[in-house]
Amino acid sequence: MPKPQVQNATDAEARPPSHLFYLSSLRRPLVERAEGIYFWTKDGRRFIDGSSGPMVANIGHSNRNVLDAMKRQMDKTTFAYRLHFENEPAEELARELAGKLPAGMDRIFFVSGGSEATESCIKLARQWAVATGQPKRWKVIGRFPSYHGGTLGSLAVTGDDALAETFLPMMRAMPTVPAPTAWRDRDNLSLEQRGIRYADMLEEKIQAEGPESVLAFIMEPVGGAATAALVAPDSYYPRIREICDRYGILLIHDEVMSGAGRTGKFLGGDHWNCKPDLVALSKGLGSGYAPLGALAAPKRLVEPLLAAGGFQHGHTYAGNPLACAAGLAVLGEMGRLDLIANAAAMGDVLIGELRALQKRFPFIADVRGKGLLLGAEMVADPETLTPIAPGKKATQRLLDLAYERGLIIYGRKVKGGVDGDNFMVAPPMIITREQIGEMIAIIGDSLAALA
Ligand code: PLP
Repeated sequence: MPKPQVQNATDAEARPPSHLFYLSSLRRPLVERAEGIYFWTKDGRRFIDGSSGPMVANIGHSNRNVLDAMKRQMDKTTFAYRLHFENEPAEELARELAGKLPAGMDRIFFVSGGSEATESCIKLARQWAVATGQPKRWKVIGRFPSYHGGTLGSLAVTGDDALAETFLPMMRAMPTVPAPTAWRDRDNLSLEQRGIRYADMLEEKIQAEGPESVLAFIMEPVGGAATAALVAPDSYYPRIREICDRYGILLIHDEVMSGAGRTGKFLGGDHWNCKPDLVALSKGLGSGYAPLGALAAPKRLVEPLLAAGGFQHGHTYAGNPLACAAGLAVLGEMGRLDLIANAAAMGDVLIGELRALQKRFPFIADVRGKGLLLGAEMVADPETLTPIAPGKKATQRLLDLAYERGLIIYGRKVKGGVDGDNFMVAPPMIITREQIGEMIAIIGDSLAALA
């Protein structure tokens, strides 16, 4: 194994003050270039991208064929407004996508990111309800904890108190049901029985809210940052579909993180053969080559609102030829390199390695996920699941320890959530066994330093 590379903070001090501001004022190394699963910084250090950034770089960095396709498109046109012209990359990408989605999900609307994608689903659902004579339906039930985006509309359905509380006076926070953290429950039920119980909480919520007022239910089929790759028991998924059907409620799958092959199937929901009414995609669709997202819907939802005057929604850069050319080439590379199968196979290897770490470090209470969207939850006491004291900042310390050793992993503690500290490992889908070994050695060292 290569020696871990320890981050030194001095190069940031030599740089001029930054005009940019983000979550914190912490200076990060200047990136120089990226290739495959690696980043190199200006000061010569190498980082393994163990989380594909925030689960974006699905096909890996600097893929030659994608760059060439983008350059070819740049030589033609980088922008043509969708209300003035059709463009071939957008048409072809929509056709390709429709072929990979569940049967009938063949109406595509492009956007530039994940929040735009989930918000577009919500706005399409609402316009469909109005166009079909159901104007009283407006509530979108979400799960707690969850993450669906940072715009006020997508934040309104996000289950995360810390992110939402400042903005509550400015938006209408939507009702939530608990995320299906069935593995945590200490009762006499089987996991599958618990899956049903969690799904039935949706029905109870619908009844409490008034079924005629509920428009949709939004969920991540394989959880993202808020739940660290939480997977519900198998029984949950068909039961949710049944309940939505019973009340005429649209089922929105937020596949922004779990879609585009990351879980070892094109959609996370494909593991359970799910048939959602609306799907939001982003992240891996552009794979970091271009800001890109999409909403997919069946004809039966789109036609009524087109007949009623069209979809009253859109963003200037949506469906631009450059982003769509990138997305098309990303899907092409995913197919050519058989990356979805590799995500499934390498996901099996990686989850096995994480479970081995769990044996070494019993404060890891759960390891979960699908394919290369994996997470682990850390607690103070694995018997009682007592959370680690917040003051210990276990998630952040672990991320920092790994970063100092040249590995990027992901994690976020959700205020008000039932989850404890967690971390996520989600490398690009091109990863090899050897590279998994390299990552696991650093995670093991970092956990040992944390313990
Ligand atoms: N939905 C999910 C499941 C996400 O994970 C994210 C981002 O992390 C979003 C929506 C929002 O995407 P974006 O940050 O591109 O707006």
